Amino acid sequence: MAEPARRIDRIDTAPRFTAADVARLNARFEGVATQEVIRTVLEEGLLGRVAVVSSFGAESAVLLDLVAAVDPSTPVIFLDTGKMFPETLDYRDTLVARLGLTGIRVVSPEAAAIAAKDGTGLRWSYDPDGCCEIRKVLPLAAAMKDFDASITGRKGFQASTRSGIARFELDGDRIKFNPLADWTKADLDRWFEARGLPRHPLEAQGYLSIGCAPCTSVVKPGEDPRAGRWRGWDKVECGIHGEPIVRPGEEPVF
Ligand code: SF4
Repeated sequence: MAEPARRIDRIDTAPRFTAADVARLNARFEGVATQEVIRTVLEEGLLGRVAVVSSFGAESAVLLDLVAAVDPSTPVIFLDTGKMFPETLDYRDTLVARLGLTGIRVVSPEAAAIAAKDGTGLRWSYDPDGCCEIRKVLPLAAAMKDFDASITGRKGFQASTRSGIARFELDGDRIKFNPLADWTKADLDRWFEARGLPRHPLEAQGYLSIGCAPCTSVVKPGEDPRAGRWRGWDKVECGIHGEPIVRPGEEPVF
């Protein structure tokens, strides 16, 4: 059985978590309902200092609703890359108010990094990996210094690289907690319906996977639901989940 995370201090150089901790957590919660897992993890402090990482995209409301039901003050990290759709920023504010989230942390890229590496604001158009690095990966890494674990909305159905993902994964020496790992699209739709959660306003316009505005396009009939991300590039990951940024043939998840 997993034990509450050790307190981390300046002279403690041991890893926060190990593969054995992850294995124990997955074993302990095998077959346990999602809501019960979230409640237990948060109330027992099993993951130490934990933050939700949310894009406030098309499916984000479900995870945020589940977490808010246990503790609406749970920190929620939102990466504002400077390239977000205004509709996403509005949707974020709507969900924060609707769910009573009090721990929102808006994380932005370093102004100096933008000035040095993306002065024109057009890096996405010729080097999307480099753009994601300075606008997403590095800011999130800095924000996670305050935390021992992240809660993500990753689902197994999103991509072949997500198929069969575990609820708990090792992320360096942190833990990545994926409460919705085994949820299907139908499960998510049912939750939206049952809870009366608002949909992202762009979903109705055909944006089925919503990220930064320059790198998200409408999905045409017959296309993969995630075909609108980084259209025209062999890029499917932004890199914040530790996977290679470019993985041809896979679909984006953030
Ligand atoms: S998704 Fe596009 S605009 Fe956003 S950080 Fe990545 S490359 Fe830049």
